[in-house]
Amino acid sequence: MKMLIHGEWVDREEKINVVDPYDGRVIDTVPSGTAKDVKAAIDSAEEGFRINRDLPVHKRIEILKGTANILDERQEEFARTIATEGSKTIKEARKEAFRAAQTMTVAAEEARRILGETIPFDSMAGSENRVGYYYRFPIGIIAAITPFNDPLNLVAHKLGPAIAGGNSVVLKPATVTPLSALKLGEALLEAGLPPKVLNIVTGYGSKIGDAMVTDKRVRMITFTGGTEAGEEIVRKAGLKKIGMELGSNSPVVVAEDADLELAVESSVSGAFWAVGQNCIGVQRIYIHEAIYDRFESMFVERTKKMKVGRQLDEDTDMGPMITEGEAARVEAWVREAVEKSATLLTGGTREGTVFQPTVLSNVPEGVTIACEEVFGPAVCLFKVKDMDEAVAKANDVRFGLHAGVFTKDIKTAFKLIKEIDVGGIMINDSSDYRIDLMPFGGVKYSGLGREGLKFALLEMTEPKVVCFNL
Ligand code: NAP
Repeated sequence: MKMLIHGEWVDREEKINVVDPYDGRVIDTVPSGTAKDVKAAIDSAEEGFRINRDLPVHKRIEILKGTANILDERQEEFARTIATEGSKTIKEARKEAFRAAQTMTVAAEEARRILGETIPFDSMAGSENRVGYYYRFPIGIIAAITPFNDPLNLVAHKLGPAIAGGNSVVLKPATVTPLSALKLGEALLEAGLPPKVLNIVTGYGSKIGDAMVTDKRVRMITFTGGTEAGEEIVRKAGLKKIGMELGSNSPVVVAEDADLELAVESSVSGAFWAVGQNCIGVQRIYIHEAIYDRFESMFVERTKKMKVGRQLDEDTDMGPMITEGEAARVEAWVREAVEKSATLLTGGTREGTVFQPTVLSNVPEGVTIACEEVFGPAVCLFKVKDMDEAVAKANDVRFGLHAGVFTKDIKTAFKLIKEIDVGGIMINDSSDYRIDLMPFGGVKYSGLGREGLKFALLEMTEPKVVCFNL
């Protein structure tokens, strides 16, 4: 596929192979963009901004709804693209394609609700003769940088609200999964988006990232990705708005009175969805000692039933990891834990990009897999004596995106809601629960700001005050 600059689909001699992570087969190529391409894209986005700012809201709604319809009609095609360039199974990919259509639909609906309010100027002495209001106006050019693990829906989460709010966008999708994003770009143009409103530059973050994040004409960076890249971008960005959706190693707490069937089923799904390459994936499970043994054996038994294989096979439950390097990293983290006395309950083996679903117990404090984001199919089970210990351990990391709690006791639920430091806490669901319209984002090193269409729209617009001196 080609990249989209100044309304044209453009190619470059230097190409990047896009491969199926299961077997390394090249499925397509994209141009390897340069800093010059980024500059051209931003030049175009300057024009694009004026065009979208002046577009009536009902037109923006029509475009976003039209895009949602295309996503619905071609759901299977989008799902196959997701499941071929990335790690997701076809069943997981269908869900993502369905959600992307919903994301665009809600973006269209929210475009109608970008509201302001009147300001009671006469409530302050000396302002008796003034009347006025504020409304929300678009902030300008938004640079969007996206990761590989939800290559369609996380892009929709940036393009939908940016366009709804009247901005223009320069998008850089993940180098390993650019095709879903480019197809979404095609769908937006087909639905009537004026071409310069969206520019898409494909290429390595290390090569074109700086040109995107340091350009002073870019007024906001909306980034989803790892904490390290996020921090580097923040250091370089200068004076512009920043939205950061970063990583985590989400905790789940299973109380003594939990419904164990539910807790196991939901946590196994949360740990291995998208091969664990999921920012809200379950990584650390804190289980009350009274039910620990039963939970452990049920969890391991359920994990062993997962069928690992080729993403496009209908009966595959878990696909390959995104690259062999990533699979080898997870293997090394598991090995390190086992060498330092952790117990390997199942999994731990690797063939190329395929890493078996892995469950560890007795994981000592301080090993990498207990502290950092594993972003792979490995989960740690910890025995705790009470809920205070569960809270202390859940919080004892630098991340705080989502948490899950299983309990039937309302008091336990409210205690953990208050005490676990995260952006979202799910009671009787694992950390891996999200719908696209809720406020989504983290505390601590998991991020800055919130996505979820209404909330992203607030970040991507600013209030402008209007005051009449009568
Ligand atoms: P990543 O390595 O941080 O890359 C994310 C994006 O940033 C890619 O497009 C990458 O380009 C680009 N990039 C990397 N370094 C850059 C730089 N210095 N300047 C500008 N752009 C740069 O993350 P990933 O491996 O794709 O995704 C996994 C991470 O994303 C995990 O940590 C996960 O938790 C996080 N994530 C968070 C959320 C959330 O909503 N909180 C959702 C999904 C994923 P290249 O592809 O060319 O390297």
